Amino acid sequence: MSAFVEKGKIWFNGKFVDWKDAKIHVLSHALHYASSMFEGARCYNTAKGPAAFRLDAHIRRLFDSCKIYRMPVPYSEEEFSQAVLETIRVNELKECYIRPIIFRGYHSLGVNPFPCPVECVIAVWEWGAYLGQEALEKGVDVMVSSWNRMAPNTFPAMAKCSANYINSQLIKIESMENGFAEGIALDPDGCVSEGSGENIFAVKDRKIFTPPLSSSILPGITRDTVITLARDLGYEVQTMRIPREMLYIADEVFFTGTATEIAPIRSIDRIPIGSNGRGPVTEHLQKEFFGILRGERPDRHKWLAYVYA
Ligand code: PMP
Repeated sequence: MSAFVEKGKIWFNGKFVDWKDAKIHVLSHALHYASSMFEGARCYNTAKGPAAFRLDAHIRRLFDSCKIYRMPVPYSEEEFSQAVLETIRVNELKECYIRPIIFRGYHSLGVNPFPCPVECVIAVWEWGAYLGQEALEKGVDVMVSSWNRMAPNTFPAMAKCSANYINSQLIKIESMENGFAEGIALDPDGCVSEGSGENIFAVKDRKIFTPPLSSSILPGITRDTVITLARDLGYEVQTMRIPREMLYIADEVFFTGTATEIAPIRSIDRIPIGSNGRGPVTEHLQKEFFGILRGERPDRHKWLAYVYA
């Protein structure tokens, strides 16, 4: 990942500040106790101008995360979405990654978050393919992690809380140190959960399978997008608990995520998956997905929020 370019403006509690001035105190609650909820969305340049993909769904998930952690947001979802679009306009970007974050700020320190103010930030910057452009075509080599995702009575997986990403970091570090691009975590029962920052799908005999919300996954917006598009294209999609070995014998396995988009997995634990490259169902779904988000195919589900509407 390349370093920040440090230009442009960041939306900070309703005001635009210079990138370098968007700072918080070292004794902010979020830094010590991980009390922050965030999102990762993307804006794509389409034939009709830049458009944020499924912005309403991302903002809805952000507000849901805040609700779970009793963090009152001083804006409506509509106001927040408008602020995202305004931030893209102010930075004059055509394609970018969008990172809203809502966190407990600086007041006093103790586990109790309530005395600390709720702060809201939106940052946008240019960003390419997360696992690399080549990954989208050729696929990535991954391992099953020795780290599990969290049990449902420990950290709520449905909240996109920074705290969850310390588990993601263990998965990512282990996979990189072992020479893999990414790790797949199992859930506390030993069934397949998700990658450190991606949901996962398996294809067997042209049927598509993905783990359910009860397998400690983040309810991915790309996951929902792929399920919808696959059904539109006539595939049968089942959410079901997936035993690890089902991945090894699948015809195709792929990751989905805002950053990752749709990335084929060509081997798991050094076992080649299917033809050891991108399979036909993955490619079909990629074509439909990229066609819609680039505005080349009709936006029949109204997923594009145009920046200059
Ligand atoms: N799982 C985890 C743990 C993630 O961090 C992400 C990325 N937000 C995903 C799944 C994919 O979610 P989405 O498609 O909404 O980006």
